[in-house]
Amino acid sequence: MKAIAVFPKTHEVKLIDHEEPKITTPAQVKLRTLEVGVCGSDKKITAFQFGTAPAGFDYFVIGHEMLGEVVEVGSGVRGFKPGDLAVTAVRHPCLHDYCRACRIGRQDFCFTGDFTEHGIKESHGFMTEFVVDEARYMIPVPHELRDVGVLTEPLTVAEKGLAQVWHIQQRLPWIDLNAPAHMRGKGLKAIVLGAGPVGLLGAMLFVASGFETYVYSRSKMPNPKADLVEAIGGKYISNETTSVEQLAEQVGNIDLIFEASGASQVVFDIMRVLGTNAIFVFAGVPDPTAPSKVDTGHVILDRVVKNQVVLGTVNADKAAFESAIRDLAVFKQHWPHALRSLITGYYPIEQAPQLLLGSVRGIKNVVTL
Ligand SMILES: [Zn+2]
Ligand SMILES: [Zn+2]
Repeated sequence: MKAIAVFPKTHEVKLIDHEEPKITTPAQVKLRTLEVGVCGSDKKITAFQFGTAPAGFDYFVIGHEMLGEVVEVGSGVRGFKPGDLAVTAVRHPCLHDYCRACRIGRQDFCFTGDFTEHGIKESHGFMTEFVVDEARYMIPVPHELRDVGVLTEPLTVAEKGLAQVWHIQQRLPWIDLNAPAHMRGKGLKAIVLGAGPVGLLGAMLFVASGFETYVYSRSKMPNPKADLVEAIGGKYISNETTSVEQLAEQVGNIDLIFEASGASQVVFDIMRVLGTNAIFVFAGVPDPTAPSKVDTGHVILDRVVKNQVVLGTVNADKAAFESAIRDLAVFKQHWPHALRSLITGYYPIEQAPQLLLGSVRGIKNVVTL
């Protein structure tokens, strides 16, 4: 079957013929891939910054953001039948007994680093015609989300981040965790750094959770991403025309910052204006850049006197996938046009190498199979 393969040793990215996977245990499900999203991590992989092949292969199939249709299920599988839509989670647990995270199915917190990841680390990805995995790593997607289900994985980044925020903010005794999901952020202000797919999906999540939401990004107004932010009831502010101090003046107490841009200097600038009792979530991976100057005394002082938390988050658990699917349905109901407009291009698999290696513009580009 067709697949897009990355050869780490010879630095090649190309369409190959890859052996079609078969169901070999009763717990497995076989999916026909429908769509695979391309993201910044894929671009880093095809620039050979990271990515490792499974044992016995000199290549791996790329792709970790997918939507598939069930074509076959193992004899022990309940909950999936042919024709269902599903997404497959990216990370599989490590095998060490002493990894408490992996042993309870929270490989997103793996201690050892010996996990595997589809399309990234020692496991084939999804940019191919068929995928076989165990049912426990798959999450059902309702047919109503056929057109946007491929956005599930990028949305899990903000979903896990926000779930962590609510865990941690239980330290504030007045936060009501029993409030309905769309009310929890009421009266709170969130800033998203970066207007890529992860940032924009995060902005949708924060608006839908009741936050007054701002997206602080580079491009000057007007621009299509700013229009999209306004369409969902957020506010777009360009960091080219508004300084962090001006931003803080406009917003008031900043309760949450979600970093999805991977730009390191702006992070330390904006940390100066993070509010009291606030939380800063790092979800973007920075490009290697020249060292920048940081006022270390101030960085420490603010954390202390403003009771601030700085949190990093990577990968997502099953609950984050499930809430992402639930929230895609909410977004689709509120903002069908804005949600669809996140997907800016569809490409056949034959064109995937150009998509991965070139500088195709847009927000989220998708390979269709
Ligand atoms: Zn991705
Ligand atoms: Zn582990």
